[in-house]
Amino acid sequence: MRWSKALIPTHKEDPSHAETTSHKLMLRAGLIRKLTSGVYSYLPLGWRVLKRIENIVREELDAVGCQEILMPVISPAELWEETGRWGVYGKELWRVKDRNGREFALGPTHEEVVTDIARNEINSYKQLPFTVYQIQTKFRDEIRPRFGVVRAREFTMKDAYSFHRDEESLDETYRAIYDVYSRIFDRCDLVYRPVEAATGAIGGSSSHEFMVLSDTGESEVIVCECGYAATSEQAEGVIADVMPVEEPGAMEEVATPGMKTIEEVAGFLKIDPWRLVKTIVYVADEEPVLAVIRGDREVNEEKLAGVLGADIIEAAPPAVIEKVSGAPVGFAGPVGLANVRQVIDRSVEPLRNIVVGGNKADTHIRNVNHGRDFTVASFEDIAQIGKGDACANCGKAMDSFRGIEVSQVFKLGTKYSDSMNATFLDENGKAKPFVMGCYGLGVSRTVAAVIEQHSDDDGIAWPMSVAPFEALIVALNNLKSDAVREAAEKLYEELKGLGVDTLLDDRPDSAGVKFKDADLIGIPVRVTIGDRGLDKGIMEVRLRKSGEKSEVPKENAGAEVLAIVNGLRG
Ligand SMILES: [Zn+2]
Repeated sequence: MRWSKALIPTHKEDPSHAETTSHKLMLRAGLIRKLTSGVYSYLPLGWRVLKRIENIVREELDAVGCQEILMPVISPAELWEETGRWGVYGKELWRVKDRNGREFALGPTHEEVVTDIARNEINSYKQLPFTVYQIQTKFRDEIRPRFGVVRAREFTMKDAYSFHRDEESLDETYRAIYDVYSRIFDRCDLVYRPVEAATGAIGGSSSHEFMVLSDTGESEVIVCECGYAATSEQAEGVIADVMPVEEPGAMEEVATPGMKTIEEVAGFLKIDPWRLVKTIVYVADEEPVLAVIRGDREVNEEKLAGVLGADIIEAAPPAVIEKVSGAPVGFAGPVGLANVRQVIDRSVEPLRNIVVGGNKADTHIRNVNHGRDFTVASFEDIAQIGKGDACANCGKAMDSFRGIEVSQVFKLGTKYSDSMNATFLDENGKAKPFVMGCYGLGVSRTVAAVIEQHSDDDGIAWPMSVAPFEALIVALNNLKSDAVREAAEKLYEELKGLGVDTLLDDRPDSAGVKFKDADLIGIPVRVTIGDRGLDKGIMEVRLRKSGEKSEVPKENAGAEVLAIVNGLRG
C-alpha cells in the first residue's frame, strides 16, 4: 500500500478524552475513529490488525476441529424469555423493536440462539460432541463506555459453544479450548495469566478468564506465590483479625448527629473503623437484604448474590432503605431488624463491642455483640479480598495486579439446555439435556491489549504476528530525488513479490514527519532510503521494537529484508 493514497490519519498530540495508552495510540495512529459513545470505525491499519488476530483465532480453533458458523446479530425476545435472560440481563441487553412492535435483542452473546440450533438439528449422542464458533459484531449497552475499544458498546468477539453428552466430555473440550487460547495469546506475543473467574450473567459451574497484564487494565487480579489466581470479584482469602480480647459491655445508644459515613462516625466516636460494623441494604430479586461487614472492608456483590442465590442484586434506593430501617440513609444496623434477611460476613465473627447503626435518625449503638444483640444463623464470605489478605490455600499474603480480560471460558452444564428443553437421545433411546460449554474471546479488545504491552513513548511497536504491515519503506526526499524514488519503487515491488506485506511512505513530507509517523504506527521493520545512503550503496534497516539498526547493500535489500521479516515471523 502507498501511504500517499492510504487513509492513515495520524495525530501528533494525545486526544484529551483518552485515558489509556491503547486508546490514545489507536486514535493517534489512525487505527480507529469514534462515531458515538462506545462505537468505533476501524480505519485501514486498525482493520488489518483486527483481521490478523481473527485469522490467528480461526487457525487455532480450526486446528482442534471447531467449526465456524455465523449466527444473526438480532434475535427475538421470546428466545431470551425461555432462559429468563430477557429479564436478568437488565439494561446492558440492547433491545430493539420492529415495525410491528415485536421485541428483539442485539446479541451480546449467543447461548440461546446456538442452543435453539442444537435442539432442532442434533438428535443423537452419535453426533456429539461438537463445537461451533463465530467471529461477529456484538452489542452491550454499557452504562459507562470507556478505554476505547476495551469497554465499547459495539465490539468484535469470537464466541464458541460446545455440546456434550456428559461432564467428562465437556471437561475434555474445556481443557482443549483453554490450551487453544494459550496458543492464540502466545502468538499475539502477550503476557497473560489464566485466572478463576465469576460466572456472572452467563452462569454455569466454573469459569476462567485470561487476563493480559496491564497497569491500566480495569480488572484486578489477586495472586499468590502458591499459584492461586482469581479475579477480585471471585478471590477468596482470609481477612486478618484485628480485635483484642474484650469482655462484652452493656449496649447503649449514642447520638451521632448527621454522621453517615464510616470515617465521620469513627472520627466522632474516636474508634478504629474496623470496630464500626456497617450495614448495607441491597435489593436481591426484589427482596430487601442487609449485608453486614467490618467497617474497613467492602462487600463483594458477586459473592453476596452467590450466598443469596439471587440473579439480580442492586444497592437499595433511599426509599427502600428508609422503609426497611425506619431511619434516614446512613443509620441502618442489624439490631432489631430480625424480620429482614441478614447476611453477616465472616469478618464480623471475631469482633466484640462493635458500633452499628441504630435504625433511627442520628443514632448509633455501641457495645453491640453478635449472638446476644442480634442473631447470626451462619457467617458467610461476602467480603472483597485484596492485596495483603491471606491466601485461603497457603496462608501467605497475596499480591494483586491489573489486567485486561481478553477472554473467558465457562462450563455451562445444562443451564441452557434444561430451560430450553434441548435434548438428545442416548444409546438407550432416553432423552437427555446437552451438557454445554461456552468460550468467548474479545478480538477488538485483544488489539488494545497488544498495544498496552507493545508500545513506548514514541508509539506502537507491533509484534510481527499481528502488525498491520510487516515492512515500511521510508523514501526520503522522494519528490525531488529520482534515485530515491526509483530505488523505493523497485524495493516495494520486490518485497511485494517476495510476499512481504509492505507499506511505502511515498508522501511529500519531511524526514522528521515520516520518522515520527513510522514510530507511531509501529511497523516492525523499517527500511530508509535516502540519497546519502544510495551514494554509499546502502539502505538502512531499523527494527521498531529494539531500535536496532543495520545497513544492507542496496542490490540485495529485498532478500535481506525478507530474511529479517522471516526471523520475526516466528
Ligand atoms: Zn497461596
